[in-house]
Amino acid sequence: MSCDAPDLLPLEEALSRLWEALPAPALPELRAERDDPATDRAAMDGVALRASEGRAPRRLLGTLFAGDDPAALRVTPGTAVRIMTGAALPPGADAIVPVEQLREADGGIELLADPRPGDHVRTRGDQARAGDLLLPAGSPINAARVALLAQEGRPFPALPRIRVGVASTGDELVPQPAPHQIRDSNGPMLAALARTLGADVELRPALPDDPAALATALRQPGDLRILLTSGGVSMGEHDHLPAVLKELGATILFHKIRLKPGKPMLAALLGDLLVLALPGNPVSAYLNALLFLPVALARLEGRALPNPWHRARLAGPVKHKGDRPLLHPCRLVDGQLHPLPGKGSADLVTLAQADGCAWVEAPGQVAGDKVRYLPIV
Ligand code: AMP
Ligand code: MG
Repeated sequence: MSCDAPDLLPLEEALSRLWEALPAPALPELRAERDDPATDRAAMDGVALRASEGRAPRRLLGTLFAGDDPAALRVTPGTAVRIMTGAALPPGADAIVPVEQLREADGGIELLADPRPGDHVRTRGDQARAGDLLLPAGSPINAARVALLAQEGRPFPALPRIRVGVASTGDELVPQPAPHQIRDSNGPMLAALARTLGADVELRPALPDDPAALATALRQPGDLRILLTSGGVSMGEHDHLPAVLKELGATILFHKIRLKPGKPMLAALLGDLLVLALPGNPVSAYLNALLFLPVALARLEGRALPNPWHRARLAGPVKHKGDRPLLHPCRLVDGQLHPLPGKGSADLVTLAQADGCAWVEAPGQVAGDKVRYLPIV
């Protein structure tokens, strides 16, 4: 029997709420500054010549490299110009014969194939004409678009590194634990994950289960754009974070999602600071961070919505009780997901041995079923 509330927020909805709540830098409209290419260019290393002369031998007038002004080398009947990829075509030439289709002979060349006009030539304007719309305003930023902005002589954004703070919470977290205490493993885990995802990371000391101390830490974000906390968002008597955030006037984007493990997660905006308050159990904290942090980073950096999911077949069944979709740790062997006998959301050992976590939507998933999974990073 399950005690899950049926109205828990589905994961996809929580992700889209987060996406929509964050500001996104986007590109301005981009139009071509000039024809692209601005002049006919060689697309291969070879010789530039007139195709109409067929295979007749040619005398070589000189060599054009990328960046050379071609005006001085006019191709006239019976001549050709050695040319390198990217060089502007000399006047008079209309085709490139690649090195592979040539034989050098007595200061001239013989052709091994019939040239045709336009062969291996990037014709002026064949990619874009001056003034053409290259990207509409609001396009997400990616490396190809950064290159296009650079090509068009427009200022381009240096992809910002988002500063992410990590702070665990819990009175039980100490460096040298007695049997009733534990070490803070979530802090280093989340810092490593944020770093892997390209963020600038500040690992802060763990915070006590004390509302005043939590409030003080939340009020001093410094230069952090995102704060990842772990612990203190569930229903326990020391789970103060939701109340503290509300008292500070934070906008709660969501609290509790339809996911196992990882249900208690909370996301909130405190001024410009995004707080991703993750549950304390390590597997929950890891999976929630793996799902939500890339989305927040992509949005704040102006990139497109990332899709972290891969697909593979299950090599065995996964036990599924209750009504929340399950993320279950698996080993990936020969492209198949082998479910590990995980012991739940506190089982860091199994998580650390896993290659990915399979998404098991409902009971009844059997060996051979193709499912989506999150690779462990
Ligand atoms: P909480 O979400 O604060 O109720 O914590 C749930 C469980 O996760 C408890 O067993 C905590 O001791 C454990 N836990 C909380 N924070 C951490 C942490 N930083 N590292 C490892 N385990 C933690
Ligand atoms: Mg706690």
